Amino acid sequence: MGTENPGRQQFPPARPVATPFSVAPPQNMMPFSSSGPVVGSEASGFRPIPPGAPQPMVPSSTHVVGSQASGFRPSPITRFSDPSVPSPPTANVPPIAGQFQRFPAPHFPSTVQAPLSHAPPIGQPLAQPPAPPVSFRPRPQIPPVPMGSPPQTVNPAVPSLSAPYSSSDSMYQAPRPNFQSSFPGYVRMQSNADSQAPPIPPPFPTHQGGYASSAPPPSSYPYLAQPGGYVPHPPVAAPLGMQSRDQMQHFGSGPPSGSIQGLMEDFSSLSIASVPGSIDPGIDSKSLPRPLEGDVEPKLLAEMYPMNCDPRYLRLTTSAIPSSQSLSSRWHLPLGAIICPLAEAPDGEEVPVVNFTSTGIIRCRRCRTYVNPFVTFTDSGRKWRCNICSLLNDVPGEYFAHLDASGIRIDLDQRPELTKGSVEFVAPTEYMMRPPMPPVYFFLIDVSISAVRSGMIEIVAQTIRSCLDELPGFPRTQIGFATFDSAIHFYNMKSSLTQPQMMVVSDLDDIFVPLPDDLLVNLSESRSVVEAFLDSLPSMFNDNANVESAFGPALKAAFMVMNQLGGKLLIFQNTLPSLGVGRLKLRGDDLRVYGTDKENMLRLPEDPFYKQMAAELTKYQISVNVYALSDKYTDIASLGTLAKYTGGQVYYYPSFQSAIHGEKLRNELTRDLTRETAWEAVMRIRCGKGVRFSSYHGNFMLRSTDLMALPAVDCDKAYAAQLSLEDTLLTTPTVYFQVALLYTASCGERRIRVHTAAAPVVADLGEMYRQADCGAIVSLFSRLAIEKTLSHKLEDARNSLQLRIVKALKEYRNLYAVQHRLGGRMIYPESLKFLPLYGLALCRSKPLRGGYADASLDERCSAGYTMVALPVKKLLKLLYPSFIRLDEYLLKASAQVDDLKRLPLAAENLDARGLYLYDDGFRFVIWFGRALSPDIAMNLLGADFAAELLKVNLKERDKEMSRKLMSTLEKFRESDRSYYQQCHLVRQGEQPIEGFLLLSNLVEDQMGGSNGYVDWLLQIHRQVQQNA
Ligand SMILES: [Zn+2]
Repeated sequence: MGTENPGRQQFPPARPVATPFSVAPPQNMMPFSSSGPVVGSEASGFRPIPPGAPQPMVPSSTHVVGSQASGFRPSPITRFSDPSVPSPPTANVPPIAGQFQRFPAPHFPSTVQAPLSHAPPIGQPLAQPPAPPVSFRPRPQIPPVPMGSPPQTVNPAVPSLSAPYSSSDSMYQAPRPNFQSSFPGYVRMQSNADSQAPPIPPPFPTHQGGYASSAPPPSSYPYLAQPGGYVPHPPVAAPLGMQSRDQMQHFGSGPPSGSIQGLMEDFSSLSIASVPGSIDPGIDSKSLPRPLEGDVEPKLLAEMYPMNCDPRYLRLTTSAIPSSQSLSSRWHLPLGAIICPLAEAPDGEEVPVVNFTSTGIIRCRRCRTYVNPFVTFTDSGRKWRCNICSLLNDVPGEYFAHLDASGIRIDLDQRPELTKGSVEFVAPTEYMMRPPMPPVYFFLIDVSISAVRSGMIEIVAQTIRSCLDELPGFPRTQIGFATFDSAIHFYNMKSSLTQPQMMVVSDLDDIFVPLPDDLLVNLSESRSVVEAFLDSLPSMFNDNANVESAFGPALKAAFMVMNQLGGKLLIFQNTLPSLGVGRLKLRGDDLRVYGTDKENMLRLPEDPFYKQMAAELTKYQISVNVYALSDKYTDIASLGTLAKYTGGQVYYYPSFQSAIHGEKLRNELTRDLTRETAWEAVMRIRCGKGVRFSSYHGNFMLRSTDLMALPAVDCDKAYAAQLSLEDTLLTTPTVYFQVALLYTASCGERRIRVHTAAAPVVADLGEMYRQADCGAIVSLFSRLAIEKTLSHKLEDARNSLQLRIVKALKEYRNLYAVQHRLGGRMIYPESLKFLPLYGLALCRSKPLRGGYADASLDERCSAGYTMVALPVKKLLKLLYPSFIRLDEYLLKASAQVDDLKRLPLAAENLDARGLYLYDDGFRFVIWFGRALSPDIAMNLLGADFAAELLKVNLKERDKEMSRKLMSTLEKFRESDRSYYQQCHLVRQGEQPIEGFLLLSNLVEDQMGGSNGYVDWLLQIHRQVQQNA
């Protein structure tokens, strides 16, 4: 352009417009199947679809039906029938490196229909020519604006003509359509930003919605008396009948070796019936089952199949797979798995990395299963049988090993892939469509007046700066920044500069990116410019009085900067988007809508812009994390969509004030920036013949019927999938599951992480219950229930959850109650003893609880986006938090952290003389009893001890007791750093804050119209007994 403002001599001139546009568009413009670097075998299941075909991308959790949904499909490629040849990709193999710095051109396989040239449907990439969704025209003049002063709004004169597109590193020479053309159908919202403030819920939840007091009884009860594998015998030692009013029996824990022992282990029961003549419901609340040890992973499956992957990676809702559809339907609980592909390895263990350099990765020629501990070798070691589809494959020459007398390969101890349930294969070039991307971090930061006042900008700038050395991927890491209020500010970070250069774009209708080359820069090359920027950022906008937010246009701009490479986009958002595309209304949280059929609409994104953007972002390997920090309604329902469909995360800090919430933001952002991240990933779960995964749940988008697109994934993310039986009857004794995550490691290596597990097929319903995994079931239930709130009333979501629990327990009761004359007792499998309590906790969790007044809409939505991504342990802790008494522990010098005992979550456990800690993994609440020894309060709080505790910041003081408390809190934080527990202090009787912070979260207590634990159990028991 060469037209930089001559008055700004202190800044280096911007680059002339004649510079070849080096923002090379992605050239692998096949529809979605090839937009990522995925080829090869992971791609074998997803077929390229011609541009005219319907967009294959479907939102997550869509139930997939039909023949294409088979989890097991023969590879369509038949010409590579020689299995000794490394399996070729179904799509293109890129030319390696060469001059193509970024996207090699695709070579379409002959089976792919030639791309059409007309415009594709919404959200679908153009077939050809490459069309980066960057507004195309000569770059307008953007005078740099001096750093350090509030941004000057500059309206560059934008010539409307197109200029020829020339790209020095592109194969294609073609005009590029305007950005908008790839987003047809955007509805531009009229600017009539509603000035009405959102209704603010009362600080203390006054219950309105109420739980349904009873779920409708199942009208047709599909109980089929089917003889089980056990011969039921009455447990001899068990007190039968209705007498033992105060007793709960956990029968036996003997080895599962005979039928009686097996049965003894099967179930527990709880005396519910009242003493004759009494109306007292007769449950001793002390004897109720409670998960005071936290989540305990079931061990049975690991004992049966020691080569299975660790349950932290894959947990089945029951380890006993039903042999028939009829059995499966009688189970009533969800059948499926929770997968956390990058969970942190168990202490002292690492996932072994296997590099098949010369042989290529050994995979089944038909179903593409990776070689694993459950394959078998035959024919003197020359053949191997696939455990998933049973095909006999040839062993490539280089992989050959002799078998010993028992048919075991003699090199077994050097082959982790044949002995370990979890391995990581180094992927050769055919698994790449482009060179592995570097880690990319782009920050989009709100600098409007409310962001400035909250202190957020300073915390964010400081935190990013402090993490620069720890960002993964040195020395390839790339970084960039943009800020926005009513305009968008870009920052030239070119390494030759000493100071970054700000450029302001205020034409929101026609976004363009100035200097596309220098906005995303190599961190190590531009380190000093990046540091200078972060140092000056907090003061740059000090005097900014701009109240607007051009969030949508800024998002589009960020997308344009990032779409070459992909990466992580971190958005810091403080003001409801008010200008340009994606503008949102203060639709608020309308009391009148609750309880009507429109209630769910509040929880859905209002403007299709967000979902369309999310689809584009994920296609270009961009994952979005939204940090929402507004003190007003900010429509998380809409904003969160960006994270949901891009494998990202929503962090919500309502009414953020740096003095109060600064530490939480600092710690969580640090975790986000420094945790090991897998880039441009896809994940597929294969399973044996006869079963298939029919729906997927969590934050991601499906790229085909069973391929999850995960632009970025890390150890804190889990996904759920539901399993269904395809065949009426399973004939194999074992079903195998294999999770494959193909990704680019931060170091630049392409890897495939593979987790394999086996599970037995059973013909006995009792066995399914016996091997149930309560944590996995609750995790799947929570995802299903939260999804249901998007299409139904809260009450409906709760009722359907309750109904499923009732049905399952009723079915179970029918298995045992009659034989054992357990008339009035509530019986349940030992494995599911906590299920009713977790069900209650789920109904009272933020996304599902009560009605209008029980949680703000933004709180509900952000909690929903968070909970659907949580690993099992983290979710269970959120549902049933740890609650401990601290005062005695602090007084006793010898007391250790391990001595602390968790208490039931009920107010009756609060002693006015005590000090208690509530920890749900997201925050601490420390409760000071009214009669707590003043010594303790003084020791911990110093002079603040008499102040209003809400305003007191807990900090370490020069007292032994204070140090002990702080180190204890730190220990709890250390055990899981995915979120930071901010500490809230509250004194007994300080209302409404005590109720808000603590009392309303004691899930065993009755609250407003909702049940406490005892009432809930009684209600479930009554429903189980109806028509029993
Ligand atoms: Zn196979």
